[in-house]
Amino acid sequence: MENTYDYLLVGAGLYSAVFAWHATRHGKRCLVVERRKHPGGNLYCECVEGINVHCYGPHIFHTSDKKIWDTVNSIVPFNNFINTPLARYGNRLYNLPFNMNTFCQMWGCLSPAEASAILRRQCDVELAEQLLRGHVEAQNLEEQALRLVGRDIYDRLVKGYTEKQWGRPCAELPAFIIRRLPVRLTFDNNYFDDSYQGIPVGGYNRLIGKLLSGSDVVLDCDYIK
Ligand SMILES: Cc1cc2nc3c(=O)[nH]c(=O)nc-3n(C[C@H](O)[C@H](O)[C@H](O)COP(=O)(O)OP(=O)(O)OC[C@H]3O[C@@H](n4cnc5c(N)ncnc54)[C@H](O)[C@@H]3O)c2cc1C
Repeated sequence: MENTYDYLLVGAGLYSAVFAWHATRHGKRCLVVERRKHPGGNLYCECVEGINVHCYGPHIFHTSDKKIWDTVNSIVPFNNFINTPLARYGNRLYNLPFNMNTFCQMWGCLSPAEASAILRRQCDVELAEQLLRGHVEAQNLEEQALRLVGRDIYDRLVKGYTEKQWGRPCAELPAFIIRRLPVRLTFDNNYFDDSYQGIPVGGYNRLIGKLLSGSDVVLDCDYIK
């Protein structure tokens, strides 16, 4: 029969697309239904003046598994984009995640020993350890962050971003949202720890298009409805 499928996949994001790609290679037929007007889920890009804008927020593909990296690169080539975010507070820029570059920008310190000493003065190291072990609990996110990283980092690099993200004051947010705030005492701005990182050359739509190329995709179709 012509319209018989082996799998019905709800949503045309990366997960379904990868599944469809594998299933198709094993001779299976997939029907993918997607409620948005485009495939790709949160990876969807729009080309604006030659720039692939990630419509749902920036996405960097990262893995430490060489097999996965080789597989995606066999479908579309990836560039070597390394995510090294910058945060702006007032008129100053700070490297994230928190590392020696951040501490140098914030306190002018040049060595891990100097940074550790300042961090120790700003937060209660023993209490932070007990929090991480779950022996004590903070009442809210503000208290948790202050105990883990101290006043300067909290005020400049945690508070504004978190309150904007959640739309509520940190003192009214539950502590569990930020279990830990990793601090590196090395000069390393790399956001992810994975060995392989990048973005498909030409944007994610190319990757999704190839992954879904053997499947039937119906857009603007909510499975629940
Ligand atoms: C701002 C942001 C930044 C991110 N950055 C990164 C990053 O840098 N690196 C990383 O690895 N991950 C990142 N992620 C996570 C990333 O989005 C996911 O890992 C990945 O894109 C999820 O793919 P998915 O297929 O599981 O889900 P989605 O991309 O969410 O796709 C699910 C699809 O299912 C559709 N759908 C849902 N319900 C129905 C229904 N009833 N009927 C039909 N269709 C339906 C949705 O419309 C959607 O298109 C980020 C997420 C966000 C929000």
